[in-house]
Amino acid sequence: MNAAIADPNSGIEDVDLLVVGGGKAGKTLAMDAAKSGQKVAMIERAMIGGTCINVACIPTKTLINSGRVLQTIQRAAEFGVAGADNPWMDLALLRHRKEDVVSTMVKGQLASFTASGMDFVLGDATFVGERTVRVTLNDGGTRTLRGADVVINLGTEPLVPPIEGLAESNVHTSNTLLRLEALPESIAILGGGYVGCEFADLLNTIGVRVTIVQGGERLLPREDEDISGQIAKNFTDAGITLRLGSRARKIARAQDGSVTVTLGSGESVTADDVLVAAGRRPVTDGLNLENVGVKLTERGFIAVDEYLHTTADGVWAAGDAAGSPQFTHVSYDDYRVLKTNLAAQQGIGAPRSTAGRLIPYAVFTTPELGRVGLSEREARDAGYNIRVARMPVSAIPRARTVGHLDGLWKAVVDRDSNGILGAALLGTDASEAIAVLQMAMLGGMEYTAVRDAVITHPTIAEGLTLLFTQAFLED
Ligand SMILES: Cc1cc2nc3c(=O)[nH]c(=O)nc-3n(C[C@H](O)[C@H](O)[C@H](O)COP(=O)(O)OP(=O)(O)OC[C@H]3O[C@@H](n4cnc5c(N)ncnc54)[C@H](O)[C@@H]3O)c2cc1C
Repeated sequence: MNAAIADPNSGIEDVDLLVVGGGKAGKTLAMDAAKSGQKVAMIERAMIGGTCINVACIPTKTLINSGRVLQTIQRAAEFGVAGADNPWMDLALLRHRKEDVVSTMVKGQLASFTASGMDFVLGDATFVGERTVRVTLNDGGTRTLRGADVVINLGTEPLVPPIEGLAESNVHTSNTLLRLEALPESIAILGGGYVGCEFADLLNTIGVRVTIVQGGERLLPREDEDISGQIAKNFTDAGITLRLGSRARKIARAQDGSVTVTLGSGESVTADDVLVAAGRRPVTDGLNLENVGVKLTERGFIAVDEYLHTTADGVWAAGDAAGSPQFTHVSYDDYRVLKTNLAAQQGIGAPRSTAGRLIPYAVFTTPELGRVGLSEREARDAGYNIRVARMPVSAIPRARTVGHLDGLWKAVVDRDSNGILGAALLGTDASEAIAVLQMAMLGGMEYTAVRDAVITHPTIAEGLTLLFTQAFLED
């Protein structure tokens, strides 16, 4: 390990790079810097490997995959497989698999941290001076560390909105739901955003009666109406109850354990449990950030410029808590931006900005949604002269062979340049297919070049050659 040097007078240990919070950006940067011979310390209070591995992307997608396995077995006879008549989800086995995937990854992370040579400190950090934190160690005691450069990568946590009775009703967040020991028969999910929709779909698949209570008139309100409308239809067809345009006003848990959510209209929804999926808030409270010159935004995120520099000299921030779009792949790109900019301040290379990044994402419902670039609404609002390509997934030969015909693909094209402005692919394997289109966009390809490409048959990606044909492109 490239050990920190402790000042015998102040007790402060000096390092080249101090990473506060071991999220995707911070841990990747810490490992890189340590491997290159710098003295690096990274402070993490609880989750080795960060949110994604412990309580977000990895466990949820592991569970969602199990749900898909169940669905496939339920349809076994349709695929010509006999003898799979009564499949059901065994919660203990399901949890075991999820924990196995997570713990294997956590162990791998710990081994990589150690092998990199960084000083990995398990404890809670709070700022006590310029570029200096005091760490209350999980094992007892404290350490004080100062970085020549400091990177803050604290992440976010579930937001619990100020609804009457909510805090006292012992309801679930995405974190606690992942540790369920028994499935409720029914659940009300407060919030129809990405997290709410993924959990609704998963829980419904594994046999829980789900009601989504969504304040807005649509699920996934950032998406175009045809896309969120199709997802809403898929949900209702699958048996999920939607209470759209309904705000939860009051929550109360009864003696028998059931929870009643009173809506703004006065109506109510009663379920065995409640999941709050109402967004996430930055974990910046109690870090004393503003006293050391690191300004926060009104909503408590760390204010950064386009180079991820905070308002304090030598202090940088990355990931969710720095207000970056809340995805692991964005935090990873923040790492690349930071690496470039830390080198640039040493006179090596030019700095890199976060502006203009093309950020894709996926919502892992059934079927799933892959998104990149502008939606139709965003493109129109931005003043583009657009054409829209829109195609049912059933037009793709591969969708027939795998028996997943549901969904809708759409792309937005700039009529003036023939460039691709964005796409929403709702259908099987859309999270993979969207990357193909993203590459075309990054390469500046015109839609006609995608249409005319020779793509392997029969694959889902082949659908891109169909999407841009005259049959599906509006005049
Ligand atoms: C249910 C769910 C599903 C998701 N699914 C996806 C998905 O499929 N794909 C995707 O791209 N994104 C997904 N996300 C979002 C993704 O998880 C986050 O965007 C990502 O994990 C953010 O990483 P980060 O780098 O900001 O920091 P994090 O990974 O959040 O790490 C921050 C770390 O800082 C530590 N910390 C905080 N305060 C202190 C302190 N005072 N001292 C020491 N340590 C501290 C925390 O313990 C934490 O480990 C999902 C989120 C949720 C909630």
